[in-house]
Order: sequence, then structure tokens, then C-alpha cells
Amino acid sequence: MYFDPVKNALAAGTAVPAFNVPYLPMVEPVVRAVVELDSFALIETARLEWTKFEARSAAAVAAEFGRFRAPDHVRLHLDHVPVIDEDDMRVDYLADIREAISLGYQSVMVDGSRLPLQENITAARQVADLAHAAAIPCEAELGAILGHEAGPLPPYEELFASGKGFTRVDEARRFERETGCDWLSVAIGNIHGAIAAGARDKKKIAARLDLDHLQRLHDALGIPLVLHGGSGIPREYVLESFKRGIAKINIATEIRQAYEQVLQSTGQITAAQEAVYERTKWLIKDYFELGGTRLLICP
Ligand SMILES: [Zn+2]
Repeated sequence: MYFDPVKNALAAGTAVPAFNVPYLPMVEPVVRAVVELDSFALIETARLEWTKFEARSAAAVAAEFGRFRAPDHVRLHLDHVPVIDEDDMRVDYLADIREAISLGYQSVMVDGSRLPLQENITAARQVADLAHAAAIPCEAELGAILGHEAGPLPPYEELFASGKGFTRVDEARRFERETGCDWLSVAIGNIHGAIAAGARDKKKIAARLDLDHLQRLHDALGIPLVLHGGSGIPREYVLESFKRGIAKINIATEIRQAYEQVLQSTGQITAAQEAVYERTKWLIKDYFELGGTRLLICP
């Protein structure tokens, strides 16, 4: 057995917010906000945050995280390591994941969502085995959560109405059974924030969630579900999703843009850190209503 905060959150009827840190100075204010609210959260970093932003490497994020340790409140998660990345390039994902495990990451994600189903299952199975051998949980993704790719997104309303790319219930059932993954990132109308240069500072569109579809996935599966692209989704959808199986929500754009905007206007990292602190506190306490969850998740 191993500590699984997201499973604990599901059992307690709550959720774990997971904050992405594309800039290393964002770690401190996020940790400070979580501890102050006596909440429980994950600090996470995705491969594209080392390659396209300034998080530098999984090792650099782990070192920064180590400076602000608060193990009852925050753990370190490796977000998206894609098998095929947003630029259609193959990634040596096993090397990245092995490295993160050796650096002390406390959970890991493999993203094979751009692969055909069987190949996604094979990759997820490999990573679940690696993670479990290290006594940590593993996340995988099934369905198409767009947004990271370069170029314009298809019209959102069309995407939502057609349900194109949504995680299929039959596939999810098979995925859960054959991979042994602990958490599943699902596509239910959510989208990632744009990261391409020239688009990353734009306001994110307010994505909706197909809550009936989420309920069907939740009814069919036993594992906690993960909501990626958590920034900009109207609050009533998010709160309802927590009642329908979502037990981890990823937040990237919302705190990244707070950091970038204040850094750009003031030139001061400390001012940008304060903006991240305030935004994180507001998100946890007021928007997601996840203050005071520590004892439920990490008793
Ligand atoms: Zn994501």
C-alpha cells in the first residue's frame, strides 16, 4: 500500500487541487497559501514547463520544492510526460519518469492520449508498474484534451456539442482494468490553456463540462477522475464535478498569468509571487471551496 491523496479525497467527497509551476519562484507562494488554508494540494510540473517555460527541469522543480517542504499539506507530482508531445514528437517518456521517481516525485503522470487506445494502454501499464514498484500512484489520460497544440483550436461550441474526443465509457473501463492506473484524466469538455508563443497570454475561454457524461464515467469506474484545464471553468460546473468523481483538478493558466502579468508590469519577482499567493488562496478557498481539507486527505 502507498499514500494516495487523490483516492483519499474521493473517499472523503473532496478534491485535491494541483498547481502547475512553469516558473520556479511560484512554488513558495503556492505552498504558503495551501498551508495557510490548512488545505492539501499537489505541486506539479509538466515536461512542457521545462521545455517551453522556465521551470528548467524536473530536478530543478524538485530542488525548489525541497526548500519549502510541508509534507502534511503539499506533495510533488510529475504532470504530463507525453509519449507524443504537443509538436508531434516522440518522447523518451520512460527515461523522464524514471528520473522523476529517483528525484523523489510522489506521483507521476504518463500522457499517451495522442496514441491509439492499445498503445496508450501499453504505455500506461508500463508506467503504472514503475510507479507501483516505487510505492507511488500513477495518473494517465484517455480522450483528447486539446489546447496545448500550436494553431487555432476548433470552435469550442462545435467541439462540445459533438462530444468529439470525449473519453468513452467502454474504453475507460478497459483502460482501468488493463493498466492498473490509480487516477484517470478525462476529456468531458475541458481544454488546456494555450501555451504557444503569442497565445499564452490570452484570456482562456470558459470551457463547460458535460456533467452527465462525467457521471457515466464515474458510475462505470472505481478510480478517481482528474480534471485537466481547471482554469476558467465556471464555478458551478467545477463544484458539481467534485460530486461526480473528479478528485483532482489541475490549475495552470490562472496562476501562471497572474505571475506573468505582475512580473511584466512591476519587474519584481516578489510582487509576482504575492499575486500567485493571493490568486491561489482565492482559488482554493472561494472558487473551489477546498480550504481546510488536510485532515480529510492526509490524516
Ligand atoms: Zn493537463
